[in-house]
Amino acid sequence: GPSWTDLDVRADFPLLSRLENGHPLVYLDTAATSQKPRAVLEATDSFFTVHNANVHRGVYGLAQEATELYEAARTTLAAFLNAPDPRNLVFTRGTTEAINLVAHAWGRYALRPGDEIVVTELEHHSNLVPWQLAAGATGARLRAVRLTPEGRLDLGHLRELLASGRVRMVAVAHVSNVLGTVHPVAQIARLAHAAGALCLVDGAQAAGHRAVDVQALGADFYALSGHKMYGPTGIGALWGRAELLEAMPPFMGGGEMIETVEIGESTFAPPPLRFEPGTPPAAQAVGLAAAVRFLEAIGLDRVRAHEAALLERALRGLDALPDVVTYGPQGEDRAGVISFNVRGVHPHDVATFLDEDGVTVRAGQHCAQPAMRALGVDATARASFGVYTTPEDVDAFLRAVERCAAFFASA
Ligand code: PMP
Repeated sequence: GPSWTDLDVRADFPLLSRLENGHPLVYLDTAATSQKPRAVLEATDSFFTVHNANVHRGVYGLAQEATELYEAARTTLAAFLNAPDPRNLVFTRGTTEAINLVAHAWGRYALRPGDEIVVTELEHHSNLVPWQLAAGATGARLRAVRLTPEGRLDLGHLRELLASGRVRMVAVAHVSNVLGTVHPVAQIARLAHAAGALCLVDGAQAAGHRAVDVQALGADFYALSGHKMYGPTGIGALWGRAELLEAMPPFMGGGEMIETVEIGESTFAPPPLRFEPGTPPAAQAVGLAAAVRFLEAIGLDRVRAHEAALLERALRGLDALPDVVTYGPQGEDRAGVISFNVRGVHPHDVATFLDEDGVTVRAGQHCAQPAMRALGVDATARASFGVYTTPEDVDAFLRAVERCAAFFASA
């Protein structure tokens, strides 16, 4: 298995020194949102303190400076994704908005009645509901790739679905927010393309946890959220292939996304500005660029190895507890996410019990109700790791789960 890494960045995260219920905080909900390193807090603060002006509007020096910082953030994030051209990187509020942008702008112009959109049973609601809306508006149909009993995507089923010849889009998560499994998205994109479909990858749980190379993946769209990769909330991105973005009509209308405006009609700016109407969250974009630099200074391979080591330690510990069940395949490439249950105990009670020890885990359906049905559970508890998670955090988590199982077994 992966050897232990010496990654020690916890001190860079001021929030992690606070207490939770009188205990040192053991933050195990990074998959919901990550904590922010000082470099990100300072970059955002410094934008507001010394560079703030509306971007892409003013001709005065301060406005140009703000615009340059915003566009430099775009270039930084594009390079992080190995995107060939920053003009194909659209800033959005997050993954949800990025997927809605494609579902509306591409979906409404490209989909016809009888066309098919393929998702998977594991998708987060934000990579499912926008496609339901697009299908409803166009007469397209939604199909879902099944999970195997071990929790893998059934690629045989994907091939069967693609054989209809009507599939126009395959939308799949890079990393599952429920199981932490890494999906073979490069292979899925190839299968989609061979069947004449496009492929959108929901990268919310992958970006910031492993190197992402949009050219190597070969997908057509890649969506991510800044707040899950140590950046601020309110900022995320959609990368798209140039010819697709250039052909797409706007998603929302407003200022700074147009070329000419008459009362009756307008012509639109080229991407990315066509898809960024209104005043963008420039300070947040600058904060996201600081998060990228923070991650690159560590190195994405170290980040990934660190999470793999934590995952192995946590899975080994949970497997030793007879009353604990974990979900999803083991022994393969997985991000630092574990869904589990304590037999006979509702995950909300598990999360409440753990919180008393300062251990914060998510409990519920993880915005993935079809995934819960496919796994045959009502809900799960979920622990998730980040760069700041330590082996001591994992051990505190394991002790708390053990105490919880013992408490409810004797209750
Ligand atoms: N997709 C996945 C796989 C996610 O985990 C999440 C966040 N939980 C989202 C999409 C939505 O991201 P956001 O709420 O930042 O838009």
